[in-house]
Amino acid sequence: MSLFVLEQHASLASSPMSSDGATVAEEEYLQSLFWLKEAGLAMSAANVARAMQLSAPTVHEMVGRLERDGYIERAQDKTITFTVVGMEHAERVVSRHRLIERFLTDVLKVPWDEVHEQAESLEHGMSPALEERIRAAVGDAKNCPHGHPIELGAREPGVPLADVAIGADVRVLRFENEAEDLLHYLMDAGLYPGLSGTLAAHDDDEVTLETSDGRRCAVTPSVAETVAVVADPSPPPRTALPEQLVLGKQRYGR
Ligand SMILES: [Zn+2]
Ligand SMILES: [Zn+2]
Repeated sequence: MSLFVLEQHASLASSPMSSDGATVAEEEYLQSLFWLKEAGLAMSAANVARAMQLSAPTVHEMVGRLERDGYIERAQDKTITFTVVGMEHAERVVSRHRLIERFLTDVLKVPWDEVHEQAESLEHGMSPALEERIRAAVGDAKNCPHGHPIELGAREPGVPLADVAIGADVRVLRFENEAEDLLHYLMDAGLYPGLSGTLAAHDDDEVTLETSDGRRCAVTPSVAETVAVVADPSPPPRTALPEQLVLGKQRYGR
């Protein structure tokens, strides 16, 4: 998923083509829509605008284009759904994005907080033959470095770190928001997918996870909203999902 500013969208008409027939801009939108769907958030133009940090008119124009090109349909209430073709295309790009991130960290040794935007720039023009080579190079890796499944649909259910009770055992599953400044913050805090520990403290300023070797990893409560974990005891799953996507990068500055 892409939570970042797309300056190149200023001129949609001149957007270059991907190797799959859609424009690069269309593929970015399809990815954002897929990410919303995967996270259980409403597929709406408003959420896309927030996720991509674009204005409502810009998103409105592109959503119309995606509909004309047969990738999405819009209901009377403006709810967006993928067409079969749109779903396939979105899945292909999202999976390739995660695969490239894994390749960058595992094979090229790029730190995981730097690979998201690199993958964004590499994922569109790639030939199927090169993608196959990259797939072979990462072996049987299941997730991107931020914990999102490369094989779509294999997403392990999680709860927000912010909901976990003090004293619970915690395993970090994934970072739901891949905005790069947020990834830098999470790396600095010492968190990473797969990390286990105990929820040591939770107050208005910080949520603190303590690892078995005594290391304390603290993030703000708003960032803890974007960290998906498995916990024992587990808080109940959230029954009401936020109607509007809230950007982590706007929320963690204190
Ligand atoms: Zn990414
Ligand atoms: Zn990722």
